[in-house]
Amino acid sequence: MIFFSDFDGTLTKEGRELTREFFEILDHVKKHNQELVIVSGRSLSWGHFFLTHFPLKACIMEGGGVICYLDDRGEIVEEPLVSPQELEKLRNFTTTLKHHYPHVPLSADSFGRLTDRAIEFHLMDEAWIDQVMDFMKKESVNFSKSNVHINFWCGNISKYLGVKHFMEKYRPHLKQHDCWFFGDAPNDESMFELFHNSVGVSNIKHCLHKLNHKPRVILEGEENAGPSGVLNFIRKL
Ligand SMILES: [Mg+2]
Repeated sequence: MIFFSDFDGTLTKEGRELTREFFEILDHVKKHNQELVIVSGRSLSWGHFFLTHFPLKACIMEGGGVICYLDDRGEIVEEPLVSPQELEKLRNFTTTLKHHYPHVPLSADSFGRLTDRAIEFHLMDEAWIDQVMDFMKKESVNFSKSNVHINFWCGNISKYLGVKHFMEKYRPHLKQHDCWFFGDAPNDESMFELFHNSVGVSNIKHCLHKLNHKPRVILEGEENAGPSGVLNFIRKL
């Protein structure tokens, strides 16, 4: 059994706090010889942190743009899922963006990103956000808005494509019904649309109306918010 899970708001409480339940999930997974793979919009540098501080073997970071995993010697290996040309286009676009909008608030973790960059949109007003998003459209740069950032990238990136590649290349023995995904927000939608076993933790209720594709299972009640919902669910499997 393998559990893929979003991080912010799904494995953390209200997108901020690492609670006891997160560590209970890690214990449960270990005890039952299962695996947890974090699938997050956070940066590759966060992926390094996850792999060095938690008992995980792999993470899929930057919204599916890059896989990082521990090899047989315990060294971290990074595998970007977009081409070197697309990475270069992204670097050039970021320079152009900063030239046009010198005060655009790039996220503090943008320097630790490889396949995308992020903007702290809560520091911008609506009109400015629209201007920047129009500029991205004009330059054919992809973007999405999560509950924390506007992420932008070049090439074809989604959480689903990252998970699909990871399963085909690194865990080919796993069957669809042995895999579950947990999420809480619109940036998990590609997984809700295309992955068979998907679960929304109960705090997803705040954004259900924004989703064209909903998770197959939607948890309810305060006791099933974030990591508590994940823990309760995997205990019953
Ligand atoms: Mg989330």
